[in-house]
Amino acid sequence: ELAELDRRHLLHPWTPHGVGDRLVLAEGRGCEVTDSYGRTYLDGRSGQFNATLGYRHPRVLATIEEQAGKLMTYALLGSSNEPAVLLAARLAELLGEPLERTLFCNSGSEATEAAIRIVRMYHALRGEPRRTTVISLADGYHGTTVAAAAMSASPIAWTGCGPLPEGFVQIPTPGSAGDTRPGPQALEEAIVAQGAENVAAFFVEPVLGVGGIRPLPAGYLRAVREICDRHGVLLVVDEVTTGLGRTGAWFAHQREDIRPDVITTGKGLAAGYVPFAAVTMTTAVADVFASDPMLGGLRHGHTTSGHALGAAVALTVLRTIEEEGLIDHAAAMGERLCGQLADRLKGLDGVSDVRGVGLLAGVEFDSFARAAQVSQACLGAGVVVRSEGPVLSVAPPLIVTAPQVDRIVDALYDATVAAAG
Ligand code: PMP
Repeated sequence: ELAELDRRHLLHPWTPHGVGDRLVLAEGRGCEVTDSYGRTYLDGRSGQFNATLGYRHPRVLATIEEQAGKLMTYALLGSSNEPAVLLAARLAELLGEPLERTLFCNSGSEATEAAIRIVRMYHALRGEPRRTTVISLADGYHGTTVAAAAMSASPIAWTGCGPLPEGFVQIPTPGSAGDTRPGPQALEEAIVAQGAENVAAFFVEPVLGVGGIRPLPAGYLRAVREICDRHGVLLVVDEVTTGLGRTGAWFAHQREDIRPDVITTGKGLAAGYVPFAAVTMTTAVADVFASDPMLGGLRHGHTTSGHALGAAVALTVLRTIEEEGLIDHAAAMGERLCGQLADRLKGLDGVSDVRGVGLLAGVEFDSFARAAQVSQACLGAGVVVRSEGPVLSVAPPLIVTAPQVDRIVDALYDATVAAAG
């Protein structure tokens, strides 16, 4: 009955029409979710990489109840609310100077849109209005809104969006087939080809997520930081997937010890309990808006940006990660996950590559069909993972236990061997 109602009334994002035999989820607890037939699965994907504290976390539930009893929402236009202020301050602490000021959004895509506008306005307000071009990696993914889609070179991302807005240029992803130059040289060349005086920013994910769980090579972020500085180009690091513990660090860019000018977060920020995202920028960037006499601030935002309930949940999420030692835990579980996947799956028939960092791992198969077959077999064995193209991604909640990691790896191993046979 639910499947029929779903087919008639729901339009699913990024999936063929109708739920078919897909999961209709009824509830979750810890790292497990239960479907409407009462079957329980280990969630090896944290929902859509966002349920970092799993489901029904008691501290988050308590916060929801407490904050709902106080103030659910109040727009940040001309006013503030307590949780939003405290959350912005906490993000500044975690990111470190000079990343100090935050604009809240509701989704990663909105954070990307806001960041595009912020980098363009930053240059315009400083008297360089021609600096509008945004450069990104060809296999990057920054969201599904029209401008965010224009940042990817994949026709899958922008089919139906056209005509695409101007001012977006892609460079080959390091290590991809189209990457004929070593590392970050492609960025330097693109900036020179566009004319540095026309380039606003370079957007990059520390680990390409939708683009196939591809960690950037060591040293890449440091090198592009230097290139951006040399050309007056802002560096925007998209940590929507990689931020808030996923890679075993608070933020993946911190592993390279660089400071972006702007960083976007989403997914794990409120751990999926409520829609919530953010753009955090340096004071140098933010101060340009503060000092603008004409606009009197950034002309951008949403009715529910900085929603009080969402901000309170995010604060609790950050507190929980800290107090429960989940960064170190994620690093340890990530090593176990990536290590075991490499040991047991590399070299099996049909497996082209195994890679990842922290609790963000990908297994690349030799075909879309094989990846889909393996993920379907894992589901049959009670483990949710998901394939996008030929890459199957594994990203359990940060609270995952060692036996649960082992169960995910066992399921993947068995399914891969069966798919090869
Ligand atoms: N940036 C990255 C790196 C992402 O992975 C995603 C979502 N997959 C987004 C931005 C967009 O976030 P949302 O789906 O919340 O709009």
